[in-house]
Amino acid sequence: MKYIGAHVSAAGGVQNAPLNAQTIGARAFALFTKNQRQWQAKPLTREAIDAFKTHLQQVGIAAEHVLPHDSYLINLGHPEKAALEKSRAAFVDEMQRCEQLGLKLLNFHPGSHLNKISESQSLAIVAESINLALEQTRGVTAVIENTAGQGTNLGYRFEHLAEIIEQVEDKSRVGVCIDTCHTFTAGYDLRTPDTCEATFEEFDRIVGFDTLRGLHLNGSKPDLGDRVDRHESLEKGKLGLAVFHYIMQDKRFDAVPMVLETPDPDNWAHEIELLYSWQ
Ligand SMILES: [Zn+2]
Ligand SMILES: [Zn+2]
Repeated sequence: MKYIGAHVSAAGGVQNAPLNAQTIGARAFALFTKNQRQWQAKPLTREAIDAFKTHLQQVGIAAEHVLPHDSYLINLGHPEKAALEKSRAAFVDEMQRCEQLGLKLLNFHPGSHLNKISESQSLAIVAESINLALEQTRGVTAVIENTAGQGTNLGYRFEHLAEIIEQVEDKSRVGVCIDTCHTFTAGYDLRTPDTCEATFEEFDRIVGFDTLRGLHLNGSKPDLGDRVDRHESLEKGKLGLAVFHYIMQDKRFDAVPMVLETPDPDNWAHEIELLYSWQ
């Protein structure tokens, strides 16, 4: 069984996200539990939390298939102490919001070294940030996303994900999310069944399918290895459809939420239907 959805709007309150997911025929979804461009957010109200849980049940989507995404401002690998503290506090707040909503996962980009420290040093800081957040929360898994490697962003090699996980103490609450656009623009080919086989074999060898907690299904505007993060609709752009056929036919992707972050929300219902037709 595959669980596909999209990163839906939570405008007007988190409780609206499950309803927005239902409208497009989703069995999974992603959301921001606060404004992703601001540091501060009001706490979730009891009413919003209760309505979210009620709506989730109404639309028949399991908490395990909701993949919340944290704020873009957070950098858990920040080289400077004050900024790192700010990011770590914001991340704990995000984890707590997920906990309050009864959710099990929180998806985030690992961080950026900002050319001030080495990649390995920054990855160690990310791991310590995760350790600190897991100590302060319960029941929510930290889900590290692979990135396109734009600028000084970490996470564009499978080895980066492995290096972080290796330094996380509670391995039961850390996992990864693979983004098809990021993987491709980071330099891993996914344009044919053979290259998909090779790339996912490499992922399995270095990180392991047992750590997979989610997938982002995106086409790509940039080309292979461009290291630029710009998503495209599935049927457009440089990636092509082979990888999506491959994923829909492969049991290793069963059970995890698969979330579209493609640029045209009006196309999501169509993209979801198309993907399910390839099972
Ligand atoms: Zn993504
Ligand atoms: Zn992206």
